[in-house]
Amino acid sequence: MDGQQLMEQAKLAREKAYTPYSHFKVGAALLDATGHVHAGCNVENAAYGPTNCAERTALFRAIADGCEARSFKAIAVIGDTSTPITPCGVCRQVLVELCDPSMPVYMGNLNGDFVQTTVGELLPGAFDQTSLDSSTSRQEQME
Ligand SMILES: [Zn+2]
Repeated sequence: MDGQQLMEQAKLAREKAYTPYSHFKVGAALLDATGHVHAGCNVENAAYGPTNCAERTALFRAIADGCEARSFKAIAVIGDTSTPITPCGVCRQVLVELCDPSMPVYMGNLNGDFVQTTVGELLPGAFDQTSLDSSTSRQEQME
């Protein structure tokens, strides 16, 4: 499955978005190691804070379905934006946690524009597992 095909899946997922407040629908499609696509959409909440983005919905859904972290092959994200949509900061942090830094990220819009980047390029200098491992206070607690 190429980036364009994954983007089509993200577009379908976008139609399921629950957005009674912003009406800003976003879709995501996450390709796993077996070739299966996990769909995600944004799900809003009247309290705003509990709202979940399309990218995280797809990632959390895949993990819940039994996929291993960092086994994913690509993700596509689409929204109704003038230029290709980009993941928010929270989603970038989750992508760093669950995906390989070299994993392709396809970002698109409804006009058919799309660009490709990688998880690592989206969040340089990310706080990750190695940051925790290098903590001296954590190492002292584990002794
Ligand atoms: Zn997000």
